[in-house]
Amino acid sequence: MENCIFCKIANGEIPSATLYEDEDFRVILDLGPASKGHALILPKTHAANIYEISDEMAAKAMVLAKKMASKLTEVLNCDGFNIVQNNGEAAGQTVFHFHMHLIPRYKNDGVGIQWKPGTLTDEVKAEILEKVKG
Ligand code: AMP
Ligand code: ZN
Repeated sequence: MENCIFCKIANGEIPSATLYEDEDFRVILDLGPASKGHALILPKTHAANIYEISDEMAAKAMVLAKKMASKLTEVLNCDGFNIVQNNGEAAGQTVFHFHMHLIPRYKNDGVGIQWKPGTLTDEVKAEILEKVKG
């Protein structure tokens, strides 16, 4: 897609710190890392987000995330790992080309991927079950 920066990076038109590449994906280091080793999985074909990506590419992305998480954990000796994938502005997506964040975590690193737990009320539970399951 024209003017999509991640299309250009994924397809090698813009140079990047590439950790891994195959025919479908490029994995690069994030330029604004949350932690040491923060990387991004970029599909080479354009899909804005989870709503647009094909089942096949979504499945392959998850398998690659598993592989990269193991590799990064091994080489960086991190203590944990977050895989984050934002969809839509309200969810924090800023680049509208599907990507998965691979975020190595270190004890007491202060990286904030958290929320304040709410309460699941009977009313909301019933509403959602009805809407999703019909
Ligand atoms: P998101 O907020 O989920 O859309 O994530 C976008 C991510 O892309 C952020 O973590 C940015 O730091 C990262 N980013 C933006 N532009 C570049 C770039 N040219 N190279 C590497 N990472 C980038
Ligand atoms: Zn794109």
